[in-house]
Amino acid sequence: MQRGGHTSAGLRMAGARGGLRGLLAAAGPAAGGPAAAGPAARPCRPWGWTADPGSRFLRQSCHRLAGPRSGQEPASGGLPEGVEYIPTRKKGKNPMKPVGVAWYSLYAHTRLGYLFYQRQVKKARERYPQGHSASQPCHFPGVKILPIPVLSSNYSYLVIDTGSGRAAVIDPSDPLAVQAAIEEEEVILEAIFCTHKHWDHSGGNAMLHQRHNSCKVYGSALDAIPELTSPLVDREKVSVGCLTFEALATPGHTVGHMVYVLDGRPFGAPPCLFSGDLLFLAGCGRLFEGSPETMLASLDLAVGLGEDTLLWPGHEYALECLTFASLLELDNPALEQKLQWVTQQRQEKRSTCPSTLGEEQTYNPFLRTHRPELQAALGLCQGPGEQHNAFRARVLKEVRRRKDLYKAT
Ligand SMILES: [Zn+2]
Repeated sequence: MQRGGHTSAGLRMAGARGGLRGLLAAAGPAAGGPAAAGPAARPCRPWGWTADPGSRFLRQSCHRLAGPRSGQEPASGGLPEGVEYIPTRKKGKNPMKPVGVAWYSLYAHTRLGYLFYQRQVKKARERYPQGHSASQPCHFPGVKILPIPVLSSNYSYLVIDTGSGRAAVIDPSDPLAVQAAIEEEEVILEAIFCTHKHWDHSGGNAMLHQRHNSCKVYGSALDAIPELTSPLVDREKVSVGCLTFEALATPGHTVGHMVYVLDGRPFGAPPCLFSGDLLFLAGCGRLFEGSPETMLASLDLAVGLGEDTLLWPGHEYALECLTFASLLELDNPALEQKLQWVTQQRQEKRSTCPSTLGEEQTYNPFLRTHRPELQAALGLCQGPGEQHNAFRARVLKEVRRRKDLYKAT
């Protein structure tokens, strides 16, 4: 593995999803107990990403709480059952309700987010002892990609250079599940690639890093990646054995969200995109910390990787996303066909990944903002003098809004 380490940015913020009652229950008995392994204080991010009052409040609050790098930060995003959070954008651009603001305040200034994550891990281990989905490893000559189903819908990925036995993991949410895979595969963990700070993607960083001392933790310095040892910038490459990963900055879901692209050429394989919460099969991540314009640019960047690119998403959301998409586009044969296949897969609790970016463009509404049939379905027209991409961002915003409402019902 190449690249030297840097001083961590040590950024922290909070968030989570789930019922208030459950959260308070989690916080109550554990608040002064052993779970104090959670963050006691959260240094603020020095991002300057938005200029809205909410952000200023957060920055000021964080500065008050700032302390030594804690190595952990609370979560949010991509988790089931309904709590919204992080109103970090201008009110007019974010449909967050006051309750969502209250949630975010809890997560940002208390340990509730981390405690909630711990509870989610425990519950998922009990409910899905074999993981939420049955997944198959993907082999190319010299490389093996092993999806690891964790929590109730997340995927971690162990990517192995089979020649040297060196490996990287993407988003190790549940460290025990990832460690079990490492031991079963008998590989050396050299890198943790973290797409973003939310606990359901980063919660295993600390334990795995402790267990594998020489392993580096990669991610954006703009996000609050726990245990970050080696901040990456856009387009930076990291080698693990014969594997080469390129980090791409893809803000929108979070300010520092990054995706990782495995170069398949040395193995005669297509590029492999580990997309975190940027892009799912037929879906995209929620816009917690970026505008529709920002997210659109990130999605366009991903699409630019090419149609044969394999998409390895951060969540198993395919059935829900395709069902939602089918409500928007009533006459899309590609969508219907994929929905049929996904329905069958999910009835058997099988994983639906990977898809390809070529496929995604035929049914994923978040990648179809340029399509007249989708625009018509939403009742949107490009305004006179409106830039094409500004209009596409408006379409994306509306699809996202409807998807948020759909999930909430
Ligand atoms: Zn997330």
